[in-house]
Amino acid sequence: MKDIAKKANTMYLLEKYNMKATKKFGQNFLIDLNVIQKIVACTPIDQQTCVIEIGPGIGALTEQLSYQAGHVVSYEIDTRLKAVLEESLNECLNVEVIFQDFLTVDLKQVVNHYRQQYSKVCIVANLPYYITSDILEHIITSQADVDSIHVMVQKEVALKLTDASYHSPLTFMIESIGQASLDMTVSKNVFSPAPRVDSAILSIMMEKTYNPLLTQILKQAFTQKRKTIYNNLKGLFLEDTEKILNECGIDLKTRPEQLSVEDYIKLTHYL
Ligand code: SAM
Repeated sequence: MKDIAKKANTMYLLEKYNMKATKKFGQNFLIDLNVIQKIVACTPIDQQTCVIEIGPGIGALTEQLSYQAGHVVSYEIDTRLKAVLEESLNECLNVEVIFQDFLTVDLKQVVNHYRQQYSKVCIVANLPYYITSDILEHIITSQADVDSIHVMVQKEVALKLTDASYHSPLTFMIESIGQASLDMTVSKNVFSPAPRVDSAILSIMMEKTYNPLLTQILKQAFTQKRKTIYNNLKGLFLEDTEKILNECGIDLKTRPEQLSVEDYIKLTHYL
């Protein structure tokens, strides 16, 4: 099918397969071809790129990605979409749909596999919003050799993740591997069903490999956000906490969000 996102095509597919979007899987389908093409134009994908997509839905974004990329691998959790995608993407021969929860995918292994054939691997998705953070964390902590990530998230989330003065375990994880930017905002009216809030495309250019010890430090440091770094890290470094913080030049009374990513990286050396 050509231009799946055109209203008539979307309606035809949803009606034919009696597909009702389910909240359980965060399903808000894009129904504006123009916007989808703008999203794809925001990404650096070309014929030498393998795109990994999370949640193709009825295939509207997948189709446009397939025209620009060398190959597209899409992971979809909802097996009700099997028949729909078989019809909608039947002419997109460079698309492979895998019915699997993305959070269980061994991304490092998958990316290594496609790296043998493609010079770039990018992740592009209109994310299910109920697991935005889990998916970003899964991608980053997998240590997969991905060049860049371009995902639609709630606008408010994109604003927070690109605000240099806002800190959370996820912003520190992102900062430790690359640069995040908000590339374009997207009105809630181009989805069906329309979500409550507007969305935005968040891009992350991956520059460094993730240090897995950072996860352990960050989880411990943010156990109780209102407590000091000393109190939180005591659970990990026990009686050595004061000495370690002093050696790193970190004030014991600092709150976890007041540290810098460099501070957290220094702390990983003590694990
Ligand atoms: N890409 C389509 C579009 O833009 O119209 C659909 C986007 S919709 C916001 C999110 C998609 O992710 C749905 O198809 C949903 O079933 C799928 N999904 C939800 N959780 C998932 C998971 N854990 N792994 C893979 N796909 C998931």
